[in-house]
Amino acid sequence: MIEAQPFLAPDFQSKEPRELALLSIVTQSFFQPFSVDDNLLVILTALTSGSGVGFNRAMLFRTDGDKLRGGKWLGPRSPEEARMIWEVLSTPGLGYLEIIEHNRWLLSRGADAMSGKIAPLEFSLTRDNLTIPVTAVAKKELLLIREASREPLVDARFLETIGVEEFLCVPLLFQNEVMGEIILDNAFSRKPIQPKDVKLAGLCGLMAANYIYTASLHQKMVEMERMAALGEMAMFITHQIRNPLTTIGGFTDQLLNGQADEAKRRRNLEIIRGEIRRLENIVFELGHFLKFDPKRPEPFDLKAELRSVLEAMEPRAAAENREIRSEIDGLLPPVLGDPTAVGEVLRNLIINAFEASPAGSRIEVCAERKDASWVVVGVKDAGHGIPPEARAKLFTPFFTTKERGMGLGLLYIKRVMDACGGTIEVESEAGQGTTFRLGFRSQEEGRPET
Ligand code: ADP
Ligand code: MG
Repeated sequence: MIEAQPFLAPDFQSKEPRELALLSIVTQSFFQPFSVDDNLLVILTALTSGSGVGFNRAMLFRTDGDKLRGGKWLGPRSPEEARMIWEVLSTPGLGYLEIIEHNRWLLSRGADAMSGKIAPLEFSLTRDNLTIPVTAVAKKELLLIREASREPLVDARFLETIGVEEFLCVPLLFQNEVMGEIILDNAFSRKPIQPKDVKLAGLCGLMAANYIYTASLHQKMVEMERMAALGEMAMFITHQIRNPLTTIGGFTDQLLNGQADEAKRRRNLEIIRGEIRRLENIVFELGHFLKFDPKRPEPFDLKAELRSVLEAMEPRAAAENREIRSEIDGLLPPVLGDPTAVGEVLRNLIINAFEASPAGSRIEVCAERKDASWVVVGVKDAGHGIPPEARAKLFTPFFTTKERGMGLGLLYIKRVMDACGGTIEVESEAGQGTTFRLGFRSQEEGRPET
């Protein structure tokens, strides 16, 4: 027998032992689609809620360059508010989303007066700074402070802000990196901090640090990928523009030397004109395909659009010695999309088919109703096919195997299909040919089944 079990307890108020409940809440933070700040606040909630460790208040300091800066301070402002918050947090069935909402509410009341108090606090992270609370991260130790006002190492401004004699400093460390610090106290219950609470809080600190580190690494990676993509695009465009420019420059110089006869002058001018067209085309494709702004999909007559594209392609097919054969179901229902963009999608697929297949070969275009909700259009060629290693890259910008390709056509097609809730599939075998299949959502309401 196989039984699927949920990964994480969906319920914040678990009946499990509190260590397990706490572990469950903290680890859930790593999987939640909320902001890093929201998820960190949930970790603070776990440290302050009855089912978690049960501290009264938690403050979070984050590393910012070589400083430790005050961030959020979560907890009640008075014993009455403490009672109210604990009541909310012990509601059975409380889930992650409710906790996030609760935290946002806590932080919004009185424009977050508590966090406002710690926001101006900052401590230098230099090794010789031995003041509390920063020593905890410098020494990589959990520090439990008692009788704080008698302890000269406690920073005076910090002590005035926190206003309690007993608190726990939990450094947030990932290997040798300092991610921040959490400071916990029992300002309202006045309960002394127990060794077990210290251990649990330490464990939470390790997990929170790991989470902050991973989140910042992910952020860096996304930025690096974006920069790399931008660099690739710039290199590709430079490469595409360089050749025509060099040709134009060379042939213009020849003309300026004035030694060529009339026939050669004419040939040079024709080449120059051809290269200028090429440049115009690059600029057009970049602007047109990259700036695609999808229109709201509306029902349109796909059959008519297909026929008009096929008719317009006929002269080119004849000039390039290709045959286009079409098989279009006469009873196609209207489909959803932007007809102009869909026309261009079909034109692009047919041109790709031309470019992949040898002279004299046939391209087959078919359109049929698949079921009550889908219409499928296929463009099939008998060309060189797509090797497996190219498959994954087909829809990425600037992927092309053609000397003068831009690699934007399939990306455009994918965007148009995504915008109308359609699909695109490709089937290809090296040396045998390729079939692109587009799935359009159809609108058959009120029509008799065919
Ligand atoms: P481009 O046509 O400018 O190269 P596309 O985005 O239209 O850009 O196509 C990207 C690449 O996908 C082509 O360079 C080619 O390698 C491959 N490809 C597209 N359609 C076909 C096809 N019908 N047969 C074989 N390869 C194709
Ligand atoms: Mg193309």
